[in-house]
Amino acid sequence: MRRYSNVTAGPLGERMIKFVETYYPLVSQIYVTSGTDGNHGTGSHHYGQTYNGSPTAAIDFGGYDDPEPNDKDQRDMGLFADWLFEKFWDLTVELIHTQPHNDHYTYVKNQKKVGAYAAADHVNHIHWATSAALMDQIEARAKSWTAAPGLGDTGGGVLFGWDASDFDWSRGARPSTVVNAANEGIRFFTHKITEATHTVHRHAGEMARAAVSAGIPFVGFYVVPRTPGAAIDAQVNFAISQADAQFPEWRTFGGFFWQVDTERWPYDTVSPTYGAQMCDLLMSKTGKQAVHYAPKWAYGNSIPGQHPLWASSYGSNPATGFKNAYAQGGGNNHAGWAAYSGRVPAILQYGSKTVIGGQPTCDANAFRGTVSAFANLIGATTTQGDNDMTPEQASQLNTLFQALIPDPPVRTQGAWTYTRPDGRTVPINPLYNAIDSVVEKVEKIPTSTVTLSDEQLVKLADLLAAKMPKALTKEEVRTLVREELNKTKLAS
Ligand SMILES: [Zn+2]
Repeated sequence: MRRYSNVTAGPLGERMIKFVETYYPLVSQIYVTSGTDGNHGTGSHHYGQTYNGSPTAAIDFGGYDDPEPNDKDQRDMGLFADWLFEKFWDLTVELIHTQPHNDHYTYVKNQKKVGAYAAADHVNHIHWATSAALMDQIEARAKSWTAAPGLGDTGGGVLFGWDASDFDWSRGARPSTVVNAANEGIRFFTHKITEATHTVHRHAGEMARAAVSAGIPFVGFYVVPRTPGAAIDAQVNFAISQADAQFPEWRTFGGFFWQVDTERWPYDTVSPTYGAQMCDLLMSKTGKQAVHYAPKWAYGNSIPGQHPLWASSYGSNPATGFKNAYAQGGGNNHAGWAAYSGRVPAILQYGSKTVIGGQPTCDANAFRGTVSAFANLIGATTTQGDNDMTPEQASQLNTLFQALIPDPPVRTQGAWTYTRPDGRTVPINPLYNAIDSVVEKVEKIPTSTVTLSDEQLVKLADLLAAKMPKALTKEEVRTLVREELNKTKLAS
């Protein structure tokens, strides 16, 4: 992982850094700011103390010093503090991090969860201290995980994705296939758009549009860098101009991201340095996250940069449904999740012969985490509000919500319109689809066991509103939800 150049650390500190590098899935979003270096006052674990007879060390991790907005960085640091807190609080000597954007504490002192301390000094970094003896247990626990170390997931959560190209089109894939894929649970979709400054995949736009319209929350284009020849900068400009021509909505679609596809082709052994350079340029020119597809079998530990990695490891590469293929490969414990080039891969392409949406011979991919974790990976904005409900209410509503809409889509509006029952034409709002889907599913519930209080109804409306573009006001959304729900058994 990245670290400030002045950072020094002893053997235990290095072990802690290595541990984070190996097991924390979003390690590319944070970096090491301090170990034994710097002024931490007297008696700090940074300089090594003794805890229950075992030597200690402390490491500081930050998140601010990158081109992303600071509120994103704050969430990145919060997720890391949450991860340490949830999984290792009982094996931690000190965990100090303040999360102004969250309503929960992540403070630990001597293996106990405690209230806030040293809060003001720890907004911009995470201070983590432990002992060598506790570190043995931390490492043993991580090794024993049967499910992958997801982002607060305890159920081994996974999102599936499909990366397609015009070659899939020639094998029969169409926008309707993408709709089928979404219905089967595909949650991210990329399509090849360009290679170098000459190759264009003509169906990228319509396939991406189909994906967004089918409710797939994360949609992107992939670009194949080639050894210059044309400078990487020119290759990037070419990709962007094609994206604008085929699918201008990419600029405003909140779930958009880039995939850079670096490979060793029979006709061009592309250096991963060009791939990393392309990631940087795509990000600086467009403000959208790039994920670097660069397989371990091609490049080992030589991939530069800190972009999230997209690995590829097929194992027996079974020709079967994409979920089945993932399970056969070991699921979240698939060997392809092992770290290389200093990073745990964020995404794994685990098969090239899978069946997706009825289409055979598809590249299937997995992300170990939730929709909101993926959103965080690519910097998509989702709202996770509702701090004024009691935890019990929040959990009940969440259960209901998840049962009805398993993965609430993160969408922004495209160029479509919708004619409302009252005849008014409004920009299409996925809210209608979401509510329709709720109503449809509720109507199938055999007995009327679900009731919502007025307050919960408002919360549901707000929750839905938070997922939606800004076209409607909160009041409008509440009215719509009431109107729709009043037609069903949910009326209260
Ligand atoms: Zn510290």
